[in-house]
Amino acid sequence: MTDTLTPSTNPSTPAAPVYTVTQERKIVTAIPGPKSAELQARRLATVSGGVASALPVYIKKANGAILVDVDGNQFIDLGAGIGVTTIGHTETSVVAAAVAQTQDFIHTLFTITPYEEYVRVCELLAEHTPGDFPKKSVLINSGAEAVENGVKIARKYTGRRAVAVLDHAYHGRTVLTMAMNYKAMPYATGYGPLASDVYHAPSSYPYHDGLSGADAAARTIAYLEKVVGPTDLACLVVEPIQGEGGFMVPAEGFFTALQTWCTANGVVMIADEIQSGMARTGKYYASEHFGWTPDLVLTAKGIAGGMPLAAVTGRAEIMDASQPGGLGGTFGGNPVSCAAAIAVFESIERNDLLAEGARIEKTLRAGLGALKDKHDIIGDIRGRGAMIAIELVQPGTGDTTKEPNSAAVSKISAYAAQHGVLLLTAGTYGNVLRFLPSLAVTDVLLADALSVIDDAIAAL
Ligand SMILES: *Cc1c(COP(=O)(O)O)cnc(C)c1O
Repeated sequence: MTDTLTPSTNPSTPAAPVYTVTQERKIVTAIPGPKSAELQARRLATVSGGVASALPVYIKKANGAILVDVDGNQFIDLGAGIGVTTIGHTETSVVAAAVAQTQDFIHTLFTITPYEEYVRVCELLAEHTPGDFPKKSVLINSGAEAVENGVKIARKYTGRRAVAVLDHAYHGRTVLTMAMNYKAMPYATGYGPLASDVYHAPSSYPYHDGLSGADAAARTIAYLEKVVGPTDLACLVVEPIQGEGGFMVPAEGFFTALQTWCTANGVVMIADEIQSGMARTGKYYASEHFGWTPDLVLTAKGIAGGMPLAAVTGRAEIMDASQPGGLGGTFGGNPVSCAAAIAVFESIERNDLLAEGARIEKTLRAGLGALKDKHDIIGDIRGRGAMIAIELVQPGTGDTTKEPNSAAVSKISAYAAQHGVLLLTAGTYGNVLRFLPSLAVTDVLLADALSVIDDAIAAL
């Protein structure tokens, strides 16, 4: 525990992680196994066909960096529920804090009778989000809800209508956010009409556009000035490292140039740090890698160790522009989620988890670099911390036409799953494999997973 944090109500502060599942992969049945297959049949009868699953193995237990299914198979989890269980599955102090809170009270509704845990999470967010100025937060339930609230808050503050996003973005599945995504399929197709006043501006994708940050920003700004007009633009919403788009890291100087333009034009610039935040990339927030201080920051996924919680945090004058009662919701800032979030912040400090992000990046870059030297379908390795991806291209086109190779991505992830490695895919063209492990993943587990991926590529 560092002296920058005041102690929480969390009664349990263990010195080192305690694992209740051996941290190893182990495949004992066909994948999926018989019990998973049985559950899958039940699921098909009652769960909407609109809900997909990457791998239909049904999970019984999860701990650290390992998922255990109902048939007793153990998977190295390189997805962490899409970057949610960032500090590890069922982390001891998170479990203890959540259990203790359920015994005290589970719900009052902060907008009826408030409680300390909500306030404490807002204090921690003010402390750890980028920027040294007075900050305030609102807590809600999901990433998409954070995006929606960010847009509402920016519109109220600016009195303007338009929302701008970047190409290859992903912001959620609600009626507003589906219009903010780059990909129509599967997120928007057939679900229209789409929300109006959403504009898609060019992004920075160095592997493909070869532009400097300054040139990419000039291109984005030219679009915003011509197509939207700055006097109508409420906010520009961007992911510091694009998630679903394929972990694109923009060229140096891209965000700071956009922030300078936004500030000069009264536009609220919003960092969607839903996937990249909360110690995921070796910093609390990925914006810090770019020397960028956003006006508003959106947090969700990793904030509460797996419990649902999200936040909009930012400049106090922007956050206070809303009328009382204009923000909030029944479950927003649930006390159990807040207790878990406090434990997550404390665990990041106590266990120096920012260093774990740096360690994982080093291990993955070394291992993936060796694979790239061996296999000419790996075109690009990119990302920060425990948010690293490889872009797969047609053999030998990595330095020339960079033609997408989504077939290889599907085959490698299927092979990996059969061998006990859960690997997520991404990318506008479905040709990116993303490594989004929890910070609890050891170098031994990473080396083991990389050897499986090596075999998978060799077997193509
Ligand atoms: C996951 C995600 C969202 C949506 O979050 P939900 O909790 O699924 O609604 C929005 N933005 C980014 C960058 C995400 O990764």
